[in-house]
Amino acid sequence: NARHNGRDQIAVYEAEISESVVADAKTEVALRAALGKRQFECWLQSKVDTHGVIRGAEALMRWRNENGELVSPAQFIPVAERLQLIIPMARELLQQVAFTLNRLKTQGLDDNIAVNVSPVEFLQSDYVETVQQIFAEYDAPLSQLTMEITENLLLADAEKVQQTMSRLAELGVVFSIDDFGTGYSNLLRIQQLPITELKIDREFVQLAEVNEKHMGLLMAMLNMARSLSVSSVAEGVETAEQVKLLGENGADLLQGFYFARPVHYKTWLDERLPQ
Ligand code: C2E
Ligand code: MG
Ligand code: MG
Ligand code: MG
Repeated sequence: NARHNGRDQIAVYEAEISESVVADAKTEVALRAALGKRQFECWLQSKVDTHGVIRGAEALMRWRNENGELVSPAQFIPVAERLQLIIPMARELLQQVAFTLNRLKTQGLDDNIAVNVSPVEFLQSDYVETVQQIFAEYDAPLSQLTMEITENLLLADAEKVQQTMSRLAELGVVFSIDDFGTGYSNLLRIQQLPITELKIDREFVQLAEVNEKHMGLLMAMLNMARSLSVSSVAEGVETAEQVKLLGENGADLLQGFYFARPVHYKTWLDERLPQ
């Protein structure tokens, strides 16, 4: 009967909750240990202009676990965000990015490095000071730092987001909307904030080859970026056809396996800097 069913459903629901609590607790122990052992690494994937010239890179976090295996961010970032452990982890990544930017500056290269910023991190009251402090410590230029944020952040405390973004933008930090077009885009909001780049999600890039309708969507997004005077970055570029299509439709920067895979930041620097 109905009552019986209801109770069963509650039982199932409770079992699911306690499983996730156990999983989180295990992961928490593992992530804390990993932090202590400095197992979070910054990997960099180049971004190129339409002539294929490197203009910078995106920092992507990797966890090198006990067995020396690399764990992808999809497997640990959501839990790290839930447990607020993303805050110290992001700090470690930012130090590696600051190191990289210092080396680039020393060589007179004005590449931009982009970091993915979680709302949990961004909404910390000492966020701006933390970023400034790390960059001062490494003598790294904040004007060569891009912060990739997602549309989710724009759903949070509007005034706080606005204030933090303005302060960082005054220091020279560039803001980019990551995975643009996949969330709830509040275009009015985007225009009111100091956002100067749209990063077009790889789904749009990859679907554009499939049919005219998808192609129209990609072209409309690139046109919109141009009309708003913000630059556009296309991610997930894998084929020569996509490069051609994006070049013809005015994408400013391209990123994807066609050009480069992410590599450890020291490897990236070795390839980037003159010997
Ligand atoms: P994202 O910021 O959209 O990063 C792009 C993802 O696409 C990366 O996956 C990258 O390796 C992958 N990618 C790049 N080019 C290609 C391509 O041509 N084809 C395909 N199929 N994929 C490509 P990754 O490194 O696994 O990162 C996944 C997501 O994890 C990122 O998506 C970002 O949202 C998050 N993430 C990574 N590092 C950090 C971090 O330091 N902090 C935070 N908060 N999130 C991070
Ligand atoms: Mg990103
Ligand atoms: Mg992205
Ligand atoms: Mg993405």
